[in-house]
Amino acid sequence: MNMSASTVSADSVKEKVFNNIRLTKEDGLFLYKECDFLDLAGMAKAKKRQLSGAEVYFNVNCHINLSNVCVSRCKFCAFGRNKEDEGAYSMSPEEAFDYGSAYVETGITEFHVVSAMHPDRQFSYYVDVISRLHNAYPHIHIQGFTAVEIYYFAQISGLSVRQVLTELKNAGLGSMPGGGAEILNDDIRAGLCPNKAGSREWLDVHSSAHELGMKTNCTMLYGHVETLENRIEHMMLLRELQDQTGGFQAFIPLPFLPENTGISHITRTGSLDDLRTIAVSRLMLDNIRHIKAFWIMLTLPIAQISLDFGADDLDGTIVEERIMHAANANTEKGISKSHMVDLIKKSGYIPCERDTVYNILHRYNEGVTEEI
Ligand code: SF4
Repeated sequence: MNMSASTVSADSVKEKVFNNIRLTKEDGLFLYKECDFLDLAGMAKAKKRQLSGAEVYFNVNCHINLSNVCVSRCKFCAFGRNKEDEGAYSMSPEEAFDYGSAYVETGITEFHVVSAMHPDRQFSYYVDVISRLHNAYPHIHIQGFTAVEIYYFAQISGLSVRQVLTELKNAGLGSMPGGGAEILNDDIRAGLCPNKAGSREWLDVHSSAHELGMKTNCTMLYGHVETLENRIEHMMLLRELQDQTGGFQAFIPLPFLPENTGISHITRTGSLDDLRTIAVSRLMLDNIRHIKAFWIMLTLPIAQISLDFGADDLDGTIVEERIMHAANANTEKGISKSHMVDLIKKSGYIPCERDTVYNILHRYNEGVTEEI
């Protein structure tokens, strides 16, 4: 029997959570709209502990944003530019290589390569960038290109999505990030980002990547025009694909930052919504192992608190982030490994440096009690 929203209670949801019973859309809406904040946190934290104990993950990476010149010009994006705009830039393959190379000595284990939908670059440019980095530094994992970019590469090259992914994989691409999902609802996409991959295309690209043995992440951009129903439906679409492929490693909720965007009249959603969204996603996405608190957008203090709301990953040290800072993200552009370790330890968790695909490289458990 389906429970209506009015028959869902904290007890009924708790019973499901503690017995590993999948939550329904109505349960998700209850958690968002009615559930006591600390009750929600308690459930999400319990779920996090069930999945990852006292461990909290991070990696040491460097973001390479190849260009901000973009034909899509999504209304929520502060990063994209037209070619002639002030601040427009595009790295040559040599510049991208030099940019990444400069950070190799710092001990990075990941190049995180994301760009925009550039009007003139050929698909061969992206293959070139990946193979240069991979050939020079085969020990460094390359995570690159959102599903939106992959879909665009297929359009500009005349290849299928599967062929694009195969060529990039052969060049050294190891996995894909989760960006471009925004809200998986085509009415919302038609209003905010009509010039890029739709919901089905986004899901299909990830499905193809999973079929090819590549792990990917998934995101949700929230706090703009969507409803709470849209958010829960978005999570359920991800959960459905994960049931089929098992290829998503982490879910990353991203709060919309309005400054310098085409919808800057919208007020930035608050920290309570950020924490609630992290907790709800931890409980709804029972088949996605990790929930990542993307500190660049959340701020470090909220990311730290989110560890008690179900998050188990603080993303990377990043070095220099450009996309969110175009919207004046009120955070550092990167932090040191020791800062990251310190933040996690001070929250009472065990910092674990991981590689991109969640192999643990170092556990910093000195001085941390395992039982929290
Ligand atoms: S969100 Fe991505 S696709 Fe949209 S305008 Fe920005 S860079 Fe381009």
